Amino acid sequence: MANKRSICILGSSGTIGQNTLDIIRQHPAEFSVFALCANANVQTMLQDCLEFQPTFAVMADSQAAADLTNQIQQTGLTTKVLSGVDEMSQIASHPQVDTVMAAIVGAAGLLPAMSAAKAGKRILLANKETLVMAGNLFMQAVHDAGAELLPIDSEHNAIFQVMPSARGSSLAEMGINKIILTASGGPFRQFSYQQLEQVTLKQALSHPNWVMGPKITIDSATLMNKGLEVIEAHWLFNASPQQIEVVVHPQSIIHSMVEYLDGSILAQLGTPDMRTPIAYALAYPKRITSNVKTLNFKQLASLEFEQPDMQCFPCLSLAYEALRLGGNASAILNAANEIAVSSFIQEKITFNDIPRMIDAVMRQTEIAPVSDLRHLLQTDSEAREKAKEWVAKQ
Ligand code: MG
Repeated sequence: MANKRSICILGSSGTIGQNTLDIIRQHPAEFSVFALCANANVQTMLQDCLEFQPTFAVMADSQAAADLTNQIQQTGLTTKVLSGVDEMSQIASHPQVDTVMAAIVGAAGLLPAMSAAKAGKRILLANKETLVMAGNLFMQAVHDAGAELLPIDSEHNAIFQVMPSARGSSLAEMGINKIILTASGGPFRQFSYQQLEQVTLKQALSHPNWVMGPKITIDSATLMNKGLEVIEAHWLFNASPQQIEVVVHPQSIIHSMVEYLDGSILAQLGTPDMRTPIAYALAYPKRITSNVKTLNFKQLASLEFEQPDMQCFPCLSLAYEALRLGGNASAILNAANEIAVSSFIQEKITFNDIPRMIDAVMRQTEIAPVSDLRHLLQTDSEAREKAKEWVAKQ
């Protein structure tokens, strides 16, 4: 490649951020790291700065930024350390950046991703909450600024890969009937509702197929992750709720499928390893190596498929409901879920309390059309307050 792609990673110390650095490490002639942004993990940030020598390192936490500044000075590196989420948004829209990996977890990732969209960057979107909270506003910003959006979530990346390269504005225009999102079903796939009442935090944190951060691991166990992905697919592919089907596929080999009008179904398969979608999006439309273990069909056991159990896992139907309600409903769902997951991680509520609380918060918060980002952030904090009140009553 004549020019190296200059990358900014939002959420560099997390699982997606570290996998992105691994692909960049394998292709030093193609990519350079312009900026690394993380919350508070100074140790990982320092190591990554030493290896990749970015121009900027941004820590959301001001104490972490001060610690990093001290340590960077001792190494003699020229990396400039900045602090705060506003600075991350600035760096994500910097003229010298051409690709932004948006991999901050949760609602915190919204503003920097929005800033990259408004600056017309190539955005590798791993933060699904951006689309769940602000799908309408974000897609509008992408469109207006001519940004390029490539999904990193393995399911959406799979769908992107099997769609026609000549993109139509609707699924029908591309000859597509529906999108089929596969779900592993998580660690509690065969549990009854009664059994789910008893599950522990430790059980919920051990996912059978994917190695991921704690938030998304819990979301996978409740099936909220799939629910958020249904909403994500709606915005990315202009698909109605009826055009998005969820199928449980415990082996996580088929990452998702697209059903065409003529009866053809195209799927993308591979070992469950996030480096495949990351490498695909980093080099798109080129293909590059990723070091991911390829599938061995002779050793592969059977592939299974089943219906998701919406009775045991109400989070999935709550997400469909939020999508049908429209407006700020998905933002309310997301805010309540973030509080529910962190309360469960702190062992303040039970596993089945997660959907109970989200349902309660959705009923208590006014559903209204989204006018702007300020309104959306206001909804977000209102829903969080109601969620915290619910937790306090337990
Ligand atoms: Mg996914």
